Amino acid sequence: MHEYDLLVVGSANADLVIGVERRPGPGETVLGGDLAVHPGGKGANQAVAAARLGARTALLARVGDDDHGRLLLGSLRAAGVDPVGMLVGGAPTGVAVITVDRSGDNSIVVSPGANARLAAADVRAAGGLFGAARVVSTQLEIPVGTVVETVRSLAPGSRFVLNASPPAEVPAEVLAACDPLVVNEHEARALLGDPAGDDPRRWAWPLLALGPRSVVITLGAAGALVADGLSGPPVMVPSPRVEAVDTTGAGDAFTAALAWRLGLGEPLATAAAYAARVGAAAVTRKGAQASYPTEGELPAG
Ligand code: ATP
Repeated sequence: MHEYDLLVVGSANADLVIGVERRPGPGETVLGGDLAVHPGGKGANQAVAAARLGARTALLARVGDDDHGRLLLGSLRAAGVDPVGMLVGGAPTGVAVITVDRSGDNSIVVSPGANARLAAADVRAAGGLFGAARVVSTQLEIPVGTVVETVRSLAPGSRFVLNASPPAEVPAEVLAACDPLVVNEHEARALLGDPAGDDPRRWAWPLLALGPRSVVITLGAAGALVADGLSGPPVMVPSPRVEAVDTTGAGDAFTAALAWRLGLGEPLATAAAYAARVGAAAVTRKGAQASYPTEGELPAG
């Protein structure tokens, strides 16, 4: 009996958001609106999204001993994430400084802070958590050596899900463990280097050729393409039609739901259809974590 449906190994950031008329150019200062501080980071987002749906979830992440760290610990607790894997100290909490202009375009500076100090040794020290989880997932906002150690720490029979975001090089050893590799169009392009054609629906086979056991390409409002290379050609999984308000964090909600449902034993396409409902729900509300639905708030598939 596993204690956790999902163990997320990943980042936790405070998102510092300022609305501006116009984003500043080099050497320029502009006045903006009031500062808004939101809990974020792909690891924390995915843990919160899974827990809100009812998954028994733990997060292995590092925050600083500061107000941003306390904000993150509070949001994780409120969502029901077990804080057993949370490490505090070593550097300030990671932040993303985000300016958003009137047309909704943004500029973002990320200071990884404590996320860059989440070390392979932290993964080794958390060994027991790996044996307690059906599924382990991670993203690329932590050092690549920590991702490699995560793969090496997987317990026999547990499943590994990598959301290869933001785009970065992924060692072959990590790719080979993915079941699935989850990417959006930009991340797929980055991994493939120079993919043939412009249609991401053609990229499932070349992505499988990189070594993962299965692949999911998220395609925004169109849904997601799933492929495992065994059960026939790639399958398109549509997303429910919704009125999109803010797509921030939709990919994190999708990945978390997918990982959870795979751990419950659902086939890839079934789990992706559920995840598409979760991603669709997340775009109907503003924010990242604040937009994540409970089971009862999901649109029909
Ligand atoms: P983000 O970076 O904004 O978090 P992403 O680029 O990683 O997102 P997307 O492919 O945009 O990921 O979205 C993930 C999933 O969320 C999609 O596969 C889809 O199921 C759902 N989704 C996203 N946008 C919409 C939309 N406008 N309408 C319905 N579903 C959506």
